[in-house]
Amino acid sequence: MLRRRPHDRTRPAQERLTHEGITVINTFSDREIFLIQRASPIDGIVSDYVPLHRTDDGHLAGPCPFQPKDSTHEIKVLPQRGLWICFGCVDGGDVIGFIRKRHNLTYVQAAERLLRELDDVR
Ligand SMILES: [Zn+2]
Repeated sequence: MLRRRPHDRTRPAQERLTHEGITVINTFSDREIFLIQRASPIDGIVSDYVPLHRTDDGHLAGPCPFQPKDSTHEIKVLPQRGLWICFGCVDGGDVIGFIRKRHNLTYVQAAERLLRELDDVR
């Protein structure tokens, strides 16, 4: 199981979160981010929200979950690279960035959400 090590010094994804006057520094190391990305396949996560189909060029695509329902913009998913991209949104990124955008979270909050979901299935 993944455990957070708040004092890991290897270039952490770090955020200062203030809640009710108390500031905490939330930190994931690069390796923990990598492990969360690897354990949360981008195609599986995106297809929890929109149906994906295989495209002619071997990627996956589906209706963009960030665009209005009548939009024709597609989100493109590259499972081998762990990335998504949408030219309609002019945005893209990793699986954590997808969850961040989808649920309006910070990057660290999105990483924590994925980590919780991983714990739930173990
Ligand atoms: Zn989009």
